Amino acid sequence: MSDCIFCKIISGEIPSYKLCENDHAIAFLDVNPAAEGHTLVIPKKHCLDLSICDQESLQGVIMLVQHVSRVLQRSKKLDVWGINYLSNQGKIAGQVVNHFHMHVIPKYSVNEGLKITTENVVNLIPLKKVQENFVKTQKKMLKGRFSKF
Ligand code: AMP
Ligand code: ZN
Repeated sequence: MSDCIFCKIISGEIPSYKLCENDHAIAFLDVNPAAEGHTLVIPKKHCLDLSICDQESLQGVIMLVQHVSRVLQRSKKLDVWGINYLSNQGKIAGQVVNHFHMHVIPKYSVNEGLKITTENVVNLIPLKKVQENFVKTQKKMLKGRFSKF
């Protein structure tokens, strides 16, 4: 993708603070970190988001995410208490860069890093109905009625 900022990082056209890579993914520091060591892990092959990522790339990304988290936790300079793993999908969910990426965000204290808040749903559909709908949709997909998947 010629106009994709992360593809440009992969090709070296745009500089980055690269940390490590494997055959299918690379990891580099987020330029606007939510915490020290905030890292992005992306597939080398362009794809929009996790839901349509090919298996090889997905495996490469998750293996590199695990490697990054292990190194961050071992770092003597960083006193990592925990880690948030995050991938935003779609503008409404906060996705700004349209190339699938996993955020690896170290947590140093309750008030630093990623803070998670969720709103309670007012008119919640009964869980049984949600489950039934999921299973029904999945069955249709497996029968090949949704060509996208
Ligand atoms: P998202 O909102 O999930 O799409 O996150 C995109 C992330 O990419 C943000 O946290 C940005 O700070 C980060 N980002 C954007 N451009 C660059 C860049 N050139 N190098 C490193 N990180 C970047
Ligand atoms: Zn891209």
